[in-house]
Amino acid sequence: DPTLDPHSAIPSYGFQPSATQKITPRNPALLHRSLAHEPDTVTHAGGISLTLSSGRTVIDACGGAAVACIGHGNDEVLDAAVEQMRHVSYVHTGAYTTSSAEDLAAIILDGNPYGLEKAFFVGSGSEAMDATMKLARQFFYERGNLERKNFVARKQSYHGTTIGAMSLSSNLPRKVPYEPLLSKNVSHVSPAYAYQYQLPEESEEQYVMRLAGELDDEFQRLGPETVIAFVAEPIVGATSGCVPAPAGYFRSVREICDRYGILLILDEVMCGIGRSGSYFAFEQEDVVPDIMTIGKGLGGGYAPIAGVLVSEKVVRGLRDGTGIFNHGQTYQAHPLSCASALAVQKIIKRDDLVERCKRMGHFLERQLRAALAGRKYVGDIRGRGLFWGIEFVRNGESKASFEPWVEFGYRVQRKAFELGVAIYPGAATVDGVRGDHVLLAPPYTVAEAELRVIVRVVAEAYGFAEGDVEQGNLI
Ligand code: PMP
Repeated sequence: DPTLDPHSAIPSYGFQPSATQKITPRNPALLHRSLAHEPDTVTHAGGISLTLSSGRTVIDACGGAAVACIGHGNDEVLDAAVEQMRHVSYVHTGAYTTSSAEDLAAIILDGNPYGLEKAFFVGSGSEAMDATMKLARQFFYERGNLERKNFVARKQSYHGTTIGAMSLSSNLPRKVPYEPLLSKNVSHVSPAYAYQYQLPEESEEQYVMRLAGELDDEFQRLGPETVIAFVAEPIVGATSGCVPAPAGYFRSVREICDRYGILLILDEVMCGIGRSGSYFAFEQEDVVPDIMTIGKGLGGGYAPIAGVLVSEKVVRGLRDGTGIFNHGQTYQAHPLSCASALAVQKIIKRDDLVERCKRMGHFLERQLRAALAGRKYVGDIRGRGLFWGIEFVRNGESKASFEPWVEFGYRVQRKAFELGVAIYPGAATVDGVRGDHVLLAPPYTVAEAELRVIVRVVAEAYGFAEGDVEQGNLI
């Protein structure tokens, strides 16, 4: 047998990667989002800047998608990550825990007055949403409430890419091809999106009452005793561009859920951990969720991590039943991720970055309004903390979005990138669904001078896009 002789050539079976094969940027082995366009290669990321392989530097004004909350390349986080890897790089959470995972849960939960009792860490926001769906179902399963099997979520929401999380989502461009694979146990009610959907003759209070009525009707249609939970983002991120709900909306939602014993799940993967100017976005809504998710600002991009925070009520439900949440992923609460996130959270607390985020957010809002309000195609400027969306409309009166092929938001984003500032483009409109936008989410450590540059460049990029439309230069 030739394989027993270490000096003999190992026979080749099937595919063998060649050591001499030249990998060129024209032939990437990585499957990118688009097979037609390769993304830029980033060779260095530090503070608020990204350096590209071309040598060009851009300001990262969106932190990926609202991820980099303390900026890039923070030495304290790097040291904590290395230190963790020296001591424990991996253990399975079915049998062990680590002090990083425990301390991370504690730094988030200790002293919270909201009855959030336990945390559960996974690798991404999508996984967190899937875990949440299972946890919520199990809460009822443990009590023998087997008929509870439905979720109600909202149109124009985004909860993730996995089959469960995508079932909850209603981001049509990302969802439509996979419809047959998705859960049939999820239905969707209207978003709380005043700029587009509050009627001109309606007060904010009446709009909230209409939305609350629709939710109640949906619970009635399904049979409230069959509903597990209502799921919503307190500030809608990726799909509509930083849309906070009208005042009183979440209080009404909480009330209706409580009426029928339905759980309230809040997805703070994007807007949580300080991004909105409070540590949790729900704190500005005067409600408390039964289960919630956090993600991007948790690890700040230093390692893949997201989390599920579970209320005392749901933990008790499990404890009174089997006492087991049988959802074991190989890499859950990974030590590297937990140690990195713990270092990020310590910095946020020590440097009072949530307060800073709120303060800088006010500054950003003033700058954005001064530079963009009243421009021909700027429909709405909205957000909280350092989480701001600018919505573009073809017609300020009707608020109709541009046709999808105009790609107005993408046009602004591409031009801003050329001019040296990275912002996050929104979904183009599909099937009459509205909302063409760009999103800004700089780190909480951003300086006023940097915000001035960001806003100046975004306004300039907008000017180019407006010019393209005016001149019919739309290819
Ligand atoms: N929920 C929300 C609100 C999000 O914005 C996202 C990601 N944009 C997710 C869930 C999914 O997170 P991930 O991409 O980490 O899976």
